[in-house]
Amino acid sequence: MSTTCFADLNLAPEILKALAESGYITPTPVQAQAIPIVIEGCDLMAGAQTGTGKTAAFVLPILQKLLPLASASTSPARHPVRALILVPTRELAIQVEESVVTYAKHTRLRSLVVFGGVDIKTQTPHLKTGIEILVATPGRLLDHVEQKTVQLNQVQFLVLDEADRMLDMGFMPDLKRILALLPKQRQSLMFSATFSNEIKKLSAEFLIDPKLIEVARSNATAENVTQKVYLVEQADKHALLAQLLRGSDATQVLVFTKTKITASRLARQLQRDGFAADAIHGDKTQLERIQALDAFKQGKVTVLIGTDVAARGLDIDQLPMVINYEIPSAPEDYVHRIGRTGRAGASGAAVSLVSPEEEKYLKEIEKLIKHEIQKESAVVPQQAPRAPRSGHPERSYTPRPAAPKKSSHDPWFDKPYEPSASAFPNNSQPVERAGDKPKKEIAALLVRRQSQP
Ligand code: AMP
Repeated sequence: MSTTCFADLNLAPEILKALAESGYITPTPVQAQAIPIVIEGCDLMAGAQTGTGKTAAFVLPILQKLLPLASASTSPARHPVRALILVPTRELAIQVEESVVTYAKHTRLRSLVVFGGVDIKTQTPHLKTGIEILVATPGRLLDHVEQKTVQLNQVQFLVLDEADRMLDMGFMPDLKRILALLPKQRQSLMFSATFSNEIKKLSAEFLIDPKLIEVARSNATAENVTQKVYLVEQADKHALLAQLLRGSDATQVLVFTKTKITASRLARQLQRDGFAADAIHGDKTQLERIQALDAFKQGKVTVLIGTDVAARGLDIDQLPMVINYEIPSAPEDYVHRIGRTGRAGASGAAVSLVSPEEEKYLKEIEKLIKHEIQKESAVVPQQAPRAPRSGHPERSYTPRPAAPKKSSHDPWFDKPYEPSASAFPNNSQPVERAGDKPKKEIAALLVRRQSQP
C-alpha cells in the first residue's frame, strides 16, 4: 500500500481537520488498508491487534459514509442509530466512543456509549434524543432492546471490535440475538487480534464476502515491543518485581496478574514498598476503575495492576512497559497484554516473570507467536521478612524441581478484595461481570456528546 497521507484516502475536510488536530500525519497500515475497503462498501475481516490504530480504521470510513446523513434537526427521528459498534468491555467502549467524538468533532454526527454496571435509566434519555453512532457492550445493549429504548432497524454499519475477546467472554449468544435484530442490508466489519478457527467461523456466519486484511502476521506480537522472560520462583516474584520497578526508568508500568486477589494483594504490597500502585479489576466498581485509570494516565499512579478482563482495551499513550507478574494460561491473552505497550509505532518493553509451574504456558505462548522469547534466570535480592532458604544473600532461579510455594501469613491476603467505602459515594455496591448484568446499580458515568459543526 503506497498511501502516504489521509487526504489520499478520500476523507472529507471536516474529518481531515480533526485528524490534523489530533496530530495524525500518516495513516497506520491497518487504516491505509481498511479505509478504502469500507468506503467502497465491502464487509471486512481485519486481523489487527490493539495499538495498530484499528479504531480509526473503522471509525473514519463510517463517519465518511454517514456524513451525508448528518442532520442539524433536533427531531430524534432524524438521528436513528446508523452505526453500531459492539465491544467486549466497558473500558474499550469508553475509549472507542472517545475516538468517535474526537474524529467527529467537526461534523453533526452524534454518538453515545452504553455499558452495564451503571443505572440504565440514566442512559435512556440520551438514547431517546437520537444518536447516529452507538458504542455498546452486548449485555447492556440487549437490556435497552428489551426496554424498547433503542431501535436497531436502521443500522447500516455493524462493527465487532475485539471479536476474539467477545467470544472468549461468552458473548456469542448475545451477539446472535443482536445480529438478528439488524437489517440484512448492512455493512459489517470485524476486528480481531487473533485469527482462531472460532473467529473464522464467526466471520463466515456474520460477514458477506468479506475482504480480508491482516496488518501483522497472524497472532504476531508487535515488533517494536522488546520481550523478555525472567525465570523466577513464584515466591520471589514480588521481590523481583520491586527490583525491576526500581531499576526501570519507565514512568508508567502496567502489571498483569491472573486473578483479582493477586492484583489486590500485589497493589497493597507495592504500596507498602513505597510505589504509587493501584489495582484495576473486575471486583472494582466502574467508578473506581475509571478513577484508577485516570490516576494512572495522569501519572499519579505509576504502577497499575490488572487482570486480563479489566485491562482489556486500555489505551494509554506511550505506555512504556508491561510486566506479566503471572503469564496467562491462554496464549492469546499474552498477545493482548503486551499490545498495551508499543502502540502506534512507539517502542515498548514486555517483561514476564515465569515460575517453573508456568513454563508450560510459556511454551504455548512461544508456539503461538512463533518465536522464542529471550530468557534470563532472575537474581533476586533476599527480602528481610522472609526466612532465607540458604546462606547466600542473593539467590537465582534453579530449574526444576520447583521449590514449595510459600504462603503469606498476612490474613489480609486471604480476604477477597473489598473496595473502600469512599469509592461508593452513593452507598452502592461494586458491580462487575463479563456480560454486564449489574447486581445492583450505581449512578451512571455516561458519556454523551454531540459534535459541534
Ligand atoms: P488503537 O489501535 O485504535 O487502539 O490505537 C492506538 C493508538 O494510536 C491510539 O492512541 C490512537 O490515538 C493512536 N493513533 C491511531 N491512528 C494514528 C495515526 N494515524 N497516527 C498517530 N497516532 C494514531
